[in-house]
Amino acid sequence: MKIAILPGDGIGTEIMAEAVKVLRVLDLKFETETAPVGGAAYETAGHPLPESTLALAKAADAVLFGAVGDWKYDKLERALRPEQAILGLRKHLGLFANFRPAICYEQLTHASSLKPELVAGLDILIIRELTGDIYFGQPRGRRTAVDGHFPGAEEGFDTMRYSRPEIERIAHVAFQAARKRSKRLTSVDKANVLETSQLWKDVMTQVHAQYPDVELDHMYVDNAAMQLVKAPKKFDVVVTGNMFGDILSDEAAMLTGSIGMLPSASLDKHNKGLYEPSHGSAPDIAGKGIANPLATILSAAMMLKFSLNQPEAAARIEAAVQSVLAQGLRTADIWSEGTRKVSTREMGDAVVAAITKTITG
Ligand code: NAD
Repeated sequence: MKIAILPGDGIGTEIMAEAVKVLRVLDLKFETETAPVGGAAYETAGHPLPESTLALAKAADAVLFGAVGDWKYDKLERALRPEQAILGLRKHLGLFANFRPAICYEQLTHASSLKPELVAGLDILIIRELTGDIYFGQPRGRRTAVDGHFPGAEEGFDTMRYSRPEIERIAHVAFQAARKRSKRLTSVDKANVLETSQLWKDVMTQVHAQYPDVELDHMYVDNAAMQLVKAPKKFDVVVTGNMFGDILSDEAAMLTGSIGMLPSASLDKHNKGLYEPSHGSAPDIAGKGIANPLATILSAAMMLKFSLNQPEAAARIEAAVQSVLAQGLRTADIWSEGTRKVSTREMGDAVVAAITKTITG
C-alpha cells in the first residue's frame, strides 16, 4: 500500500503529523511519500499542484490531504491560488463521490448550536456529487445581456447540467452506502423548478429499482435545509448534486458543533480516494499548536476503510478517538468547563496511547 501524504498549508502540516503518527502505530504495511501542495507548492514549484505531486497522487493507492490556502495568496491569478490544487486533484483523479459524515459525539453535544436533544447521537452521511453541476457546466462567463430584465446590462451566467450516466453512478454509490447503514436514502433536488433536478429525480427513481431493500425518498433542497435544523436525526444517508451538497454538508457540519472533528472522503469509481478534514487551513491559528487533529485522524480511518481494505484498523482509530473524548481531553475549539485543554500534539499522542492500549490489551 502506498499513501501519498499532502500536508498543504497553515495547520495542514500540524494536523498531518498527528495523523501519520497514528497510522504508524497501527503496525500495518504501507509506504508513505510526502509532496507539497497548495501555497507550499506554489512557493517551491510555482504551481499549487505541480506535476510531481499529481504523479504521486495518481500512483498512490490513497491520498491523505491536509488543507490548503492562505489569505496572502488571495491576489494571485485564480489558476495559481492554493485552492486550485483541490479542484485539480478531483478532476485528474476522477473523484466524483464525496462522503461527508456528520457525527455528533455524545461528549460534544453542548458545542452544537442546536438543543442537545436534537443532535445527541446524530450520525448522518451526506454524499455529494463532486465533478458536475453548475460548478463545472459550460458555457459560463460574463457578457452583455440581450434579453432578460435588463437587456444591454452586464450579466454573469453559469450552466447547471447533469448527464444521465453522471447521476446513475452517484446513485449507485449512494444506494450501496445506504445498504451498509440503515437502508434509508434521501435524494435532494429542486425538481419543482429545475430541469436538471427533474432528470436527477427520475434517474434516482429508476436506479432505485435495483435496490428494493433501500427506502428512497425525495426532498426539495429548501425543505432539506429546514429539516436539517428542525429534525436532523430523521436523515440517514443523503445524496445530492454538487452545489446543494456543498451547502448542505457545511450546514450538517455545524450541527455537530465542531468542524475540527469532521473527516471526508472523495472517491473514484474504483474506491480510490482522497481523504481530508472538512475544514480549511485555518491561517488564524496556524503555527500555534492548538489545531484539532481529530478530523484528519478520522479521515485516515476512512482511508483505511474505503480504499485500503483495513476496516479493523479503521475501527481501532475511531474507538481511540471516542476514548480520548471520554477521558475529557479537548483541543481549544471543543474545550468546555470541566475538560482538559490539550495541544495538537498532545491530542495526537493521546490517540496513539489509546490505540496502543487496545493492541497490548
Ligand atoms: P477554515 O476552515 O480554515 O477556518 C474556519 C474557522 O475554523 C477558523 O476560525 C479556524 O481557526 C477554525 N478551524 C478550522 N479547522 C480547525 C481545526 N482543525 N482546529 C481548530 N479550529 C479550526 O476556513 P476559512 O478561514 O474560511 O479558510 C481559511 C483558508 O482555508 C482559506 O484560504 C480557504 O480558501 C481555505 N480552505 C481550504 C479548504 C481545503 O483545503 N479543503 C477548505 C476550506 C477552506
